[in-house]
Amino acid sequence: MARLLTNHRDAIVVSSDIADYIVGKGTRSDVRSLYDIACVQPERDESYADIFARLMRVEESGRIRHYRICLNDDEITDFLSCHPDIDLLTFLVFVMTHELLHIQRFSCGQADFSRASHDEEILVDNLTRLLMAKHPVTGRGKVFKLLDKLAAPPLYNQSAISDGGIINAYL
Ligand SMILES: [Zn+2]
Repeated sequence: MARLLTNHRDAIVVSSDIADYIVGKGTRSDVRSLYDIACVQPERDESYADIFARLMRVEESGRIRHYRICLNDDEITDFLSCHPDIDLLTFLVFVMTHELLHIQRFSCGQADFSRASHDEEILVDNLTRLLMAKHPVTGRGKVFKLLDKLAAPPLYNQSAISDGGIINAYL
């Protein structure tokens, strides 16, 4: 298992609880039962390079079972060690809220998982900022300020790849 999961299991659990709450309040829907979380090791899968997380749709016999938020351990820990003023919990809440908003939109038919689009990323990013502003998490201002400064935010890589029948969408 990746070290983010081992060392920061509590932060991952707490951040997903906070994100559940934020998205639940903001969209009046319950996404809690629609997803699970996994940590990935990019050295085993190059397509994870330069992204913080990816959303995967887990299917069984052609039916959607749930979504999986795959956190890129190395990218997140490297990013945070380069920016020590950003705290892990706030950053994870940001990432989780973003992913849960995608999940909410995909599961309600408001967006199409198999057509990852730039517009969807912009919309979800705006919604994430809006909902996090409504439910302030300490340190979010620093996260947004830093992400705004990045020339090519790793968050906005919207290409989709097909992987043995399971379609993956980037964060
Ligand atoms: Zn996204």
